[in-house]
Amino acid sequence: MSTAHPPTRPMPAITPEMLRDLVLRQPPERIPCLARDGELWFSPRMAEQRKAAALCGACPVTHTCRAAGRAIRAAYGVWGGETPSNRRRSEDAGRNAAR
Ligand code: SF4
Repeated sequence: MSTAHPPTRPMPAITPEMLRDLVLRQPPERIPCLARDGELWFSPRMAEQRKAAALCGACPVTHTCRAAGRAIRAAYGVWGGETPSNRRRSEDAGRNAAR
């Protein structure tokens, strides 16, 4: 029995279109930012951003959404439970790790 793995292919970058297609395959009531007032996800207030981020925790597409937010370097909005300041910190950490 071989334990060799097939060659790995690079993962395609997650795009907002891929996220949209994934979201549209879910019942809307399972997607918190669709089922509730979506303004919460784009509030400039940190307390509201944290509330939105907590609600993302129950979303079935959280990981893909976070990856899409990072991929497009979204300056606004909570994406996959990540606030804009969380995203900037993750980006900075990634840059520092690459040095
Ligand atoms: S993870 Fe959050 S922002 Fe992304 S689709 Fe789900 S509820 Fe909306």
